[in-house]
Formats: sequence, C-alpha cells, structure tokens
Amino acid sequence: MAVVETECIVLRSYDLADADKIALLLTADHGIVRAVAKGAKRLRSKFGGSLEPLSRLKASYFKKETRELVDLDRAEIIESAFDLVSEPEILTRFSYLTDILISLVPAEDPDPAMFRMMNACIETVRNRPEAIDSVSLYFEAWLLRLAGFFPSWDECSICKLELGDGADAQVTAEFQLICDRCRRSSAGEMLTANDRATVARSRRQSPEAFSSERVAADSLARLSSIFKRMIARATGFERVDRALQAGVQGLR
Ligand SMILES: [Zn+2]
Repeated sequence: MAVVETECIVLRSYDLADADKIALLLTADHGIVRAVAKGAKRLRSKFGGSLEPLSRLKASYFKKETRELVDLDRAEIIESAFDLVSEPEILTRFSYLTDILISLVPAEDPDPAMFRMMNACIETVRNRPEAIDSVSLYFEAWLLRLAGFFPSWDECSICKLELGDGADAQVTAEFQLICDRCRRSSAGEMLTANDRATVARSRRQSPEAFSSERVAADSLARLSSIFKRMIARATGFERVDRALQAGVQGLR
C-alpha cells in the first residue's frame, strides 16, 4: 500500500453508506482519483468542510494497487471555495465545467497541466466573478486541447497551407478549418479572423490575462457553441450548460 501526498481540487463529493463520503479529486500529479473519506458525514469528522466542490486541498491518501478507490487520510484546506459556490451562477457554471472535465479525462491519468489550468481558472473567477463567461470559454478550449480533441487550427485541412492571421475560415463537420481558396460553397459555418485570434490568444495566455481583454459577444457565442459540439462528439453525448441557458433566456 502506497501513501500519496498531493495537492488537489475537489470536483465532486457524494454520500456513501453509513457516515462515509466519496470525493472525486483532481490531483496535481496523479490525475483524477476517487477517494473514500471515512466518517466524513459525522459532525466532528477530521475532514470538516474540506470536501466541498472546488476547494483546493493538501491531501494524503492510501492506495492499493488492486483497488480503484483510495482511502483519504488527511485533507487540509489550502483555499476554500465557499465564496464561489455560494454564487448560484458560478456554482452552476463550474458544475458544468467539472462535468465535462470528468467525462473527457480518464481516471488516474496524471496531467499536471490540467490541474494548473483548472486552478488558475478558479482563481481568476474568484478575483473577478464577471469574467466567468470568458473563463468558461478558456476552460473548454484548454480541456479539449489537453485531452487531445482539439484539431490544428493553424492550417487549412485541405491544402495544408498556413491560415493567415487576418483570414476567415470555414469549419468542417470534423471541426477542422478550410481556407478561402479551398472553400467550395458559401454555405457552412464560418470562423472570423477575430474568432481565430481569440483562440490563439487562449493558447498563449493565462486565464487571468485572457479574460481581462474583452471577447466580442458574437465570437464568444460562436466559439462556445463549436467547443460544446466538439465536447459532445468526444464524449458521445451532449451536456447542458445550464448557466449559459439561463443567461440566454434572461436576454429574451
Ligand atoms: Zn486550403
């Protein structure tokens, strides 16, 4: 049996039989793990309020080679997410983001970049809750990228020539891009040069820097719709971003 000490973000926690809970943790260097927290439902549990979604913890757990579930031993809060989860819109949005992360990332697949990305996104929204829409877009783009589902958008998928910075491009059914010269019909979804610049910016900037520059509403809507379809294609089913739906209904 191995003892693992790691930083992690609580993705979800569920009640288990008796006084126990199961917590789904995105760890800094061991990927997503499922941990049993014995006695966590008791009033005076050593886990206290540490297993709330989006809390960042310093945790240690025991792992047996033959078992998927690990036993949580200690969980010390580095940053509580109480402020975040008490905002319904932010809670709903992160619940969607957590959902797509869990469905795209295989369990126990170490990816420190995924941990850093999620952590930086949470921090950005903590400092500037109004950045939630652009941070969500950033999260979707990076999740797709890190999970290996983002096609190269630098070149035309037909002639393989690099797409210029100022060029619009057509999006294929496989979410690849086609340049103006190779485009056969004027029908079909288009990405503007501006949309492409936004995606390029997400690739090189932190979520903090990315969301401090305004993303045009039409770009945000177009890209977010494409990313959601990419995620649906990758996972095999569609997920509903309830916060986005509520926002759209609010505009009507
Ligand atoms: Zn081309």
